[in-house]
Amino acid sequence: MTPTVDSATDAVIIGAGAIGTAIAYELSRRGRRTTSVDALPAAGYGSTSSSSAIVRFSYSTLPGVTMAWEGMHYWLDWATYVGSADESGLARFVQSGMVLLKEPGGHHERCVPLFDQVGVPYEDWDADELRRRMPALDPGRFGPPAPVDDDAFWADPQSELPGAIWTPGAGYVNDPQLATHNLQRAAQRLGARFRFSTTVTAIETTAGHVQGVRLSDGSTISAPVVVNVAGPHSGSVNALAGLADTMRIRTRPLRHEVHQVPAPVRTDDVACPVADGDTGVYLRPEVGGQLLVGSLDPACDGHEWVDDPDDFNRRVTAEQFERQVLRAARRVPALGVPNERRGVAALYDVSDDWIPVYDRTDLDGFYVAIGTSGNQFKNAGIAGHCVAELVGAVQAGRDHDADPLVVTGPHTGLPIDMAAFSRNRPLHPGSSYSVNG
Ligand SMILES: Cc1cc2nc3c(=O)[nH]c(=O)nc-3n(C[C@H](O)[C@H](O)[C@H](O)COP(=O)(O)OP(=O)(O)OC[C@H]3O[C@@H](n4cnc5c(N)ncnc54)[C@H](O)[C@@H]3O)c2cc1C
Repeated sequence: MTPTVDSATDAVIIGAGAIGTAIAYELSRRGRRTTSVDALPAAGYGSTSSSSAIVRFSYSTLPGVTMAWEGMHYWLDWATYVGSADESGLARFVQSGMVLLKEPGGHHERCVPLFDQVGVPYEDWDADELRRRMPALDPGRFGPPAPVDDDAFWADPQSELPGAIWTPGAGYVNDPQLATHNLQRAAQRLGARFRFSTTVTAIETTAGHVQGVRLSDGSTISAPVVVNVAGPHSGSVNALAGLADTMRIRTRPLRHEVHQVPAPVRTDDVACPVADGDTGVYLRPEVGGQLLVGSLDPACDGHEWVDDPDDFNRRVTAEQFERQVLRAARRVPALGVPNERRGVAALYDVSDDWIPVYDRTDLDGFYVAIGTSGNQFKNAGIAGHCVAELVGAVQAGRDHDADPLVVTGPHTGLPIDMAAFSRNRPLHPGSSYSVNG
């Protein structure tokens, strides 16, 4: 068969996860003819499908909080943003609020001044208010987090947590894969094309400019713009473009497990996400009377870096299930530890400072939206907007490296300085170097 060449595309987007489809939609809204290519059979089947999809504002840096606050507004009016014509229905944003437990020296100390700066509404609860508002939680101080086979893990708490920060605007999206499908359909209505079960195997270049991509079926798509939104495969796609060692910020895959357990008594007992740095886990209500239990990467656990994103253990392990669920059960004493281990094992695409890279590259026309570090699902809409603005400005001749673009948040009017997401930034000194960004 003669290889075919598709030349009716202005921008190829590699990856149809939450961020990739949002970029396809935002570029389509600006009149660019896009083709999204994904190795998997449908949109949102990559790391997006395992996302806990928590929408929170508790980041460690000003750009992090700004993006998250702006990003929430997309979910608030999702039907208007994506339009309602998706035969599968629309994803739902459950604006349940969120509890960030306070502990001395804890994450809230970084976030609260940033909430004040950005204008994120919050309530500062003392210990009494925490007990009154969240009676299902044991307010004891158990931390710092310890391995479950350490005596310290089982020690009785000697004091109580000082309280919590309550953000009423936070919540979670009930179905991250469906949300991605919504974005796909919205983009398709504007003419965007999607090719599934197709892998990008090469990036075509001439004299420092991207020319398009070569696909696993032998065909090529020629286009002046290519965007790498390959999630945990971001590093390998950059390598295809010859960009492996050209960025100061690198990305690499990190294995993570999220577990599912029956919620205690009534789901209402933990009706919103809870971030608990004192035990090292986060909780989130799930449909069907379940709770999701994820890890906040406490120092005692170490990191499970993965060399090959196509080759990692996709099964929930007994060790991590026990560790996370027992930690959660210290905080929620009514939680049982079931015999059956349910949950997901998936990959974060982690950048060196756990802050994403939304940027151009040294290859003209080749852009990256990578290093989402387990914390960017919530930002799909605003990340799509920012990357589309960046592509428009750089393709029109702007020297973004010398004169970084500042994007205005469409909902909040807040400035988003894209220099914060540069591939060549110094490591952000304020980062938590964790999923908290
Ligand atoms: C366990 C877990 C929990 C999370 N919880 C939260 C949370 O609570 N809140 C939050 O905001 N974020 C969370 N995140 C992070 C969030 O889910 C991600 O940041 C987001 O989904 C990334 O979307 P993406 O489009 O960049 O990548 P992905 O969804 O990973 O999509 C990348 C796509 O690229 C495709 N691809 C890769 N290489 C190629 C190639 N060569 N050719 C063709 N296709 C290719 C893949 O098949 C894949 O579908 C979590 C992530 C995980 C893993």
